Amino acid sequence: MEKRRTALVTGASRGIGRAIAVRLAKEGCNVAVIYAGNKEAAEETCRMIEQYGVESLCVCCDVSNPEQSKRAVQKVCESFGGIDILVNNAGIVKDALVLSMKEEDFQKVLETNLNGAFYMIKNTYHQFMKKRQGRIINISSVSGLMGNAGQANYAAAKAGMIGLTKSVAKELAARNVTCNAIAPGFIQTDMTAALPAKVREGAESQIPMKRMGTGEDIAAAVAFLAGEEARYITGQVLCVDGGLNM
Ligand code: NDP
Repeated sequence: MEKRRTALVTGASRGIGRAIAVRLAKEGCNVAVIYAGNKEAAEETCRMIEQYGVESLCVCCDVSNPEQSKRAVQKVCESFGGIDILVNNAGIVKDALVLSMKEEDFQKVLETNLNGAFYMIKNTYHQFMKKRQGRIINISSVSGLMGNAGQANYAAAKAGMIGLTKSVAKELAARNVTCNAIAPGFIQTDMTAALPAKVREGAESQIPMKRMGTGEDIAAAVAFLAGEEARYITGQVLCVDGGLNM
């Protein structure tokens, strides 16, 4: 029997990350669920994963902390013997127009959304090189491609993730490790539920498909990029956005 693959998904306690974790379990992977503080939700994701007859592991880790990131990767590698699929999904928003955006809110969003992905990639890099196979998938955003008023910090971090993706793709291509980004549009999660109804309706009307996406829509793209059929795709940005960015 072929060895079961291991996926590490950051921000998998809720929203898009949970949908990705559950989908990868359905694909037959053991899944490590990284979360920031919401233990109950993370444990619920683990239960959902285990329904597919695979193993799960909950790890509390602030991805913006390089030491915690290192320890989390070590723990996952000790439990599962390595990582085959890394999904950098953890992210936060701290929206404001530039004029009123606090310096620390700019910094915090960069540290979590961009540095967090960099630390995870750095901490898994060596084992990916040794394995000579693997998949890295970074969850960026259409904001990183289009910009968005009120999201200078978030858009900068998400655009940065695209540069990170392409650089890592070039560094690891010869080792048979692919690195791609997914740029979701508006997706129904806690993050978008926090927006005022007026803003949400306005956003929906801008989407050619006239509806918000679901976590499962993003998870389907992750399953494709993590799968055997995507073996020759690297350094790409796949928009999953109902046509918003075209
Ligand atoms: P949610 O706010 O619903 O969930 C965020 C997740 O990230 C939670 O699991 C949270 O853990 C985790 N997290 C937050 N900060 C940290 C941290 N410092 N360390 C570790 N984990 C952390 O977000 P979504 O599901 O909506 O978004 C997921 C990703 O998709 C994000 O990167 C977001 O930017 C991106 N995205 C989302 C879009 C949308 O419309 N929803 C559109 C485009 C991109 P905990 O539960 O413990 O707090």
